[in-house]
Amino acid sequence: MTGFDFAAWPPTLTEAQLEELSVYATTYALSHGLLYLPPAPSLPKVPTAAIHAPLALFPSPLPRKLFEQATRLQRIYNVLYSRVALDDEFLDQVMGVETGVGKVDDFIGQLWRGWKALRDEGIDQSLHLGIFRSDYLLHSPNGETPELKQVEFNTISSSFGPLSQRVSELHRYLLSTTGYFNTSPYLSLENLPPNQTISGVAAGLAAAHSAYSASTSNARILVVAQDNERNVFDQRWLEYELLNKHSIRMIRRTLTQLQKVAKVDSTTRKLFIDVPKDLEASGSIEISVIYFRAAYTPHDFPTPAYYATRFLLERSTAIKCPSLALQLAGGKKVQEVLTQAGVLERFLADGKKYHEVFSKEEIQELRDSFMAMWGLDVGDDLLTPDGQAIQAGKENFGVRKAREEAQVLVLKPQREGGGNNVYKQDIPAFLDTLPPQERQAWIAMQLIVTPADVGNYLIRAGSTTGSSDIQAPVRTNVISELGIFGWSIFGKEGGHSHVKEDTMGWLVRTKGTDSNEGGVATGFSVLDSLLLVD
Ligand code: ADP
Ligand code: MG
Repeated sequence: MTGFDFAAWPPTLTEAQLEELSVYATTYALSHGLLYLPPAPSLPKVPTAAIHAPLALFPSPLPRKLFEQATRLQRIYNVLYSRVALDDEFLDQVMGVETGVGKVDDFIGQLWRGWKALRDEGIDQSLHLGIFRSDYLLHSPNGETPELKQVEFNTISSSFGPLSQRVSELHRYLLSTTGYFNTSPYLSLENLPPNQTISGVAAGLAAAHSAYSASTSNARILVVAQDNERNVFDQRWLEYELLNKHSIRMIRRTLTQLQKVAKVDSTTRKLFIDVPKDLEASGSIEISVIYFRAAYTPHDFPTPAYYATRFLLERSTAIKCPSLALQLAGGKKVQEVLTQAGVLERFLADGKKYHEVFSKEEIQELRDSFMAMWGLDVGDDLLTPDGQAIQAGKENFGVRKAREEAQVLVLKPQREGGGNNVYKQDIPAFLDTLPPQERQAWIAMQLIVTPADVGNYLIRAGSTTGSSDIQAPVRTNVISELGIFGWSIFGKEGGHSHVKEDTMGWLVRTKGTDSNEGGVATGFSVLDSLLLVD
C-alpha cells in the first residue's frame, strides 16, 4: 500500500511562487540545451533560434518500488526483444506477408519484403544494435494500489534520452535553488533519482562502433534524421557526448539526402557517404553504425526510392540501430503475441536454444506488466476466408469483444510516433467501417487506468499571456508515462544467439488527462521527471 496521496499533487503555489519557478525553469532550460527548434513550415538550413521544450514544473510521483521494478524488468525486455529479432521463423509468421501482418499492412509488408530479399541474398552484418525504451503507466483502477503496466516497447527511434536527463537536472536545480518554497516534504534530492541517459545511449552507440571495427578509426556513426526535424537538440547531445567521451564522430543525413550520397561497396559492402571534397578531402566517409531517428512511419517513405535507400543501408556492413528485423520486432502485433500462452517461455525459458534462461518468477514479473491484448482477427478462421460471409451480429470473436468492451479499450495499428490509435467511444464506429481483411493489422488493448486527480503545472513556449513575456504555466490534471531506456548488441554465432545489453536512464512524459495520445513531439505531452514516493 502506498501512503502517497496522488490527488494532493502538486502542492499549491501562490502566483508569485509560480512566476518565480517559471522564470527559473525556462531560463535554465534555455541555457542547458533543453530545447526544440521553433515550429515553422520549413526549417531554416542554419538555425538561429530555439525555444525551450515543453516542461512540467514539478517532478511527478511514482512509487519507488515500481521504479525499481521497471528498471529490473529492462534487462529481460532487452534480451527478449533481441531474441525476437533473431527468430526469423517467428517474425515471418507474425509480421510476414504470407501469414502475418505484412499481408494486410502495406508498410509492414514493404519492410518485411526488403528484409526477406536481403536474407535470400545473404546478410553480411550479423550484429544488430537496439536502443530501446519500454513505456509504462501506473494502473490504479478504483483507487487501488498502483501497479506498473507496459504501454509499448520501442525498438526504433526511442527519443528524448538526452532531454529527459536535462529535465531531471532542471528539477534538481529548482529544488536546490528554491526548495520549491518548502511546499512538500517529499521534495528532497534523495527522492529525485539520477538519470544518466546521455552517457548511457552514447555508450550503446559507441559499443556498436567498436564492434564494427576497432581499427577503422575514421568511420563515423550516421544519424538518419527526418526532414524538418525539430527535436534536433535531443540528437545533438548524443553527437557531443560521442565526440567528447569516445572520440567518435557523427554525421546527420535525411533519407532524402541519402538517396544521392549513400554508396555500398559491391565487394566489401561497406557503407560510404559522399561528401564534397572541400569538406572532406577523401570525398567520402565510411559508416560504422546507422542510427535511425527516421524511417519508422510511412510518411518517411514518400516514394519507392526511399524504400530502396532504406534497403541499401540495410545491405551494408554498417551495424543498424535498428535492423529491419528489430524494427519489425517492435510491432504492436508482436507485443500482443508475446501475451499469448507459451510465447514468453519460447524466448526466455528454452534452455536448449539459449545459454541464459530466466526463472519462472522473472517471467511472471514480466507478464504482470502486460495489459490484456488480442488481435481483432481472433476467430476469423471460423469464418469464410474473404470475410464476406460475415453478417451483422455474426462478427468474429475479436471484433465482437472489442465492441462490447469498447469503453475500456484502445485499438492500435502497426504504427509508431503517435496519433494512430482509436480510443473508447470512437471504437464502435471505427469497427463498422473496418474491412474484415484489415483486422489482422489491429490489436485491441485494455486501457490502463492511471491514478485520479494528479496534477502538475505545465509550461509550453509560446503560451504567453497578453503583453507579458513570462510563460504562463497551466495547472492541469495529468497522466505521466515512464520510459526506461536500454540498449542491446546482439547476433547469432554458430546457431547460438548472444546478447550484450545494459539499462540506462529513464524518461517521464506528462500529458493532460483530456488527451488520449501522449507524444511530446506531437505536442500532447511535456517533458517531466520522477519523484520517488513510498
Ligand atoms: P505510439 O507508438 O504511437 O507511441 P502508443 O502505444 O505509445 O503508440 O500509444 C500512444 C499513447 O496512447 C501512449 O503514450 C499513451 O498515452 C496512450 N495509450 C496507449 N496505450 C494505452 C493503454 N493501454 N492505456 C492507456 N493509455 C494508452
Ligand atoms: Mg508511444
